[in-house]
Amino acid sequence: MSSRSKKRAYVETYGCQMNISDGELMEGILEGRGYRIVDAPEDADVVLVNTCAIRDHAEKRVLGRVAQLNGLRRERPGMVLGVTGCMAQRMGEALLEQAPYVDLVMGPDGYRGLPEALARLDADVPIVERPRGKKRGPQLAVLQLDMDENYQGLEQRRTEGPTAWVPIQRGCDHRCTYCIVPYVRGGEKNRSAVEILDEVRALAEGGVSEVTLLGQTVNSYVWEAVSFPQLLRRVAQVDGIRRVRYTSPHPNDVTPELVAVMAEEPAVCEHLHLPAQAGNDRTLKRMLRRYTVESLLQKIDMVRAAMPDIALSTDIIVAFPGETDEEFRDTLDLMRGVRFDDAFTYKYSPRDGTPATRLPEGDFIDPDVAQTRLEELINVSRAIQAEINESEVGRVEEVLIEGAGRDEGQVRGRTGRNKVVVFDGSAERIGEYTEVVLERTTGATFSGAEVDAKVAVSM
Ligand code: SF4
Repeated sequence: MSSRSKKRAYVETYGCQMNISDGELMEGILEGRGYRIVDAPEDADVVLVNTCAIRDHAEKRVLGRVAQLNGLRRERPGMVLGVTGCMAQRMGEALLEQAPYVDLVMGPDGYRGLPEALARLDADVPIVERPRGKKRGPQLAVLQLDMDENYQGLEQRRTEGPTAWVPIQRGCDHRCTYCIVPYVRGGEKNRSAVEILDEVRALAEGGVSEVTLLGQTVNSYVWEAVSFPQLLRRVAQVDGIRRVRYTSPHPNDVTPELVAVMAEEPAVCEHLHLPAQAGNDRTLKRMLRRYTVESLLQKIDMVRAAMPDIALSTDIIVAFPGETDEEFRDTLDLMRGVRFDDAFTYKYSPRDGTPATRLPEGDFIDPDVAQTRLEELINVSRAIQAEINESEVGRVEEVLIEGAGRDEGQVRGRTGRNKVVVFDGSAERIGEYTEVVLERTTGATFSGAEVDAKVAVSM
């Protein structure tokens, strides 16, 4: 097919890194079947909005965007508008009713069949009965969860650069009571270690030097006899791979073996994102997180004993139903006690179908109280982050140049400890590692200067 006659597809992704990776996967699948991937919906025959269901706010935003894209669809007869991802799975056919201009809804286990689904729409095969009186083309819903689908054998279409995300696991076997993920992505499915290692080797040969292994509870990964720590060690030893990260681990699977691999393998970065979610045992129990504050602190002690300089980040949810003010203060105490380098903070967002929505009505926290708690948590977390980063001014760190800085003549990179640094340099040097002295901090990020541009090591 000539590039002029190729169908053109545009994928717009919202949400977490796993979803961004899924967006790349859909692009890879479509490209492999003759589609040309374009950068703007105006240029596309197929527009897919790849969605997140983790909170209500994200879904509302996507519905607004889909309505906006319908304007484009009206101007361009034949354009297919699809909604994929977790929100598509969660809402299913209700989404086709609510947004009747959407042609396709497809959950995360359907992507392998995406070209066939588009072909069915092209062939005008109606799959979903439309509400009476609606005169328009066929609509298709692909919502089957598939316990075996781990996307083995399919290739992502990655944007060029020195870093790459490598999904190693899909779905989740936990049932945290606030979380929609197990219902929209199904149970845990792990990819073959052989295939993951082949993919990492190919990435390294193509110039990638930093990979991040991705999974919903990434450190519970196991494939045949290969555990996550074993996989991590093998990935860290691939020629050309200089940095390995992973996200997001579950605290219960932070084992002495995993910590030993992190400490022993020079390529494994000194950064751990450890979602704590709360600092109170009663709240953790109601969230069904399956650990206590004490056991979480023991894990953190174990990690810090092996890697005293490790940077820690976390996720926290405030105003979970039933959280008292005292229990919220316990979470602040956890933040002050552990001193995370960074924290992603959220207000509890009820998701239909999750167990927490069935808690007694009186347990749900007043929105103003929830907002106040969130702001207090953010203030505490930012103050700690600023103190930590201030204490790191003057350090010399190895930085991987990842992109151009905001200002002309500047570049942006990250340290192994996941700190963002901006310094003078040319964007032509993206992909290089260099030593940078951290000179100033805004609280969250650093500006610095190369120790000696001549010692910069090319990839
Ligand atoms: S571990 Fe809990 S929060 Fe994480 S994806 Fe699974 S159910 Fe959701």
